[in-house]
Amino acid sequence: MKPLGIYVFLVISHLSTVYLAPARIDPVETTNLEYLVDGDVISTDPRSSPEVTEKDVQDFLRQFGFLKDTYAVHNVGNRMDQALEDQTSLALKKFQHRMQLPETGTLDDDMKRLIAAPRCGVAELNSGNEKWSRKSLTYKIRSFPPSIGLDAARKNIKRAFDEWTRHIDLNITEGTRSNADIYISTEKEIHKDRLGMECRFSSNSTVAHAFFPEIGDIHYNNMLTYSPEQFFSATLHEIGHTLGLEHNNSRTSIMFPMHIRYHTKIPLQDRSALLAMYDARRIADRPRKVSLASPGPRLCSLPKIDTILNDASGATFILAEDYYFLLSEFNPKGKPISTKWPHLPTNIDAAFTCHSNKTFFFKGSELWVYAEDQLEAGYPRAISSELPGLPNDMSALYQTRAGSLIAVKGKHYWFYNPAKKPPVSSHFPRLVYDFRGMPVNMDAALHHTDGRFYFFQGRNYFTLSTKGFTVGPGQPLESKWFRC
Ligand SMILES: [Zn+2]
Ligand SMILES: [Zn+2]
Repeated sequence: MKPLGIYVFLVISHLSTVYLAPARIDPVETTNLEYLVDGDVISTDPRSSPEVTEKDVQDFLRQFGFLKDTYAVHNVGNRMDQALEDQTSLALKKFQHRMQLPETGTLDDDMKRLIAAPRCGVAELNSGNEKWSRKSLTYKIRSFPPSIGLDAARKNIKRAFDEWTRHIDLNITEGTRSNADIYISTEKEIHKDRLGMECRFSSNSTVAHAFFPEIGDIHYNNMLTYSPEQFFSATLHEIGHTLGLEHNNSRTSIMFPMHIRYHTKIPLQDRSALLAMYDARRIADRPRKVSLASPGPRLCSLPKIDTILNDASGATFILAEDYYFLLSEFNPKGKPISTKWPHLPTNIDAAFTCHSNKTFFFKGSELWVYAEDQLEAGYPRAISSELPGLPNDMSALYQTRAGSLIAVKGKHYWFYNPAKKPPVSSHFPRLVYDFRGMPVNMDAALHHTDGRFYFFQGRNYFTLSTKGFTVGPGQPLESKWFRC
């Protein structure tokens, strides 16, 4: 039997070789270290991908008209499955082409997320470019999703109409009479439209659908439970159809058919599409926006920060308690966090922007993901389900060049490698003392656009040495980050 002391020593020395080098490593030593090496294996998104069956894919493609229902019937015997498989792959390629995605014909994580996302049931085009001919319309809420409740439904629907109509010369208000121009209701899977024709939701993931002008009715799916964010964002989308807008391939558009983001306002491209159909509202008529946000503290008066991040454009932000600060400005006043990232809570634990330009925020046991400052649909979610193995209440988190994550909490750290199963090995957590000079109880960490790794504690920052596993001495934030 091996002497225990030597065995333990060997394990630790092996680990310290394996896990400690976020910086460059000699290629000869890298056989077990692939995930820490600065190679070109860039993971686009570290999250675990949703479960998607072959049937889900086919239903999805059928709904958008890329796969024909009748195809399988014409194929007999053993060749049927193979033929359907080929056809699915071909249809997937067509879909990817239409959505301007890489045309692989295979299911990558990105495709799986799109297929699993709730979506709108409108499939046809507004080929006649129909729009409303009158400038004043009414709507009536006949029924509303029980998960939302009448008061919240009324408030959200009004807010969504106002969000669109403040840009154009069209007034749409809730009517008080029994009849209205636009009817809004919650419907079963198979139901009837206003003219008594059969109308159906094509799948359980269909959030709602709507009619083009000059009908404009909106049907919500009564099989679904809506969160307030999802209800508002879906309502904004459906009103887009009510006004005459079609689906759009751009993921940042409110008219993208999959609800992958929670929109709170109308993106510029959709405003432009709308203004191509309707006259602009005169500025004087526009309801004036009152800013209720009181200005926050000055950056240079902060005793510590909660987190630091680079957004997709490369701008660096500090978050502290209720406020965010843009670091390129001279001693800026804090602005309320929710004015830049809607629905994000205050006092964030950690944040980073991943290689696919999505920004992840962590607080307590939950995770928020934003793309272009819009919350992705379905968030917040549990850290334990999205990035299993990482702790709750973390102090800091950063992404290595190869796409893995290092989470820090107090004096411990965790290494998350999305390519491994499980992504966090049983060797973790380990003590931050593995990195010589690393501050214990750090506030934040950053993989900066200059390629280096920085750690923050109180009013000091620390830089990871590019040569080894050592962290340089603390420097005052004013010497690099704060313009005071
Ligand atoms: Zn739609
Ligand atoms: Zn319907």
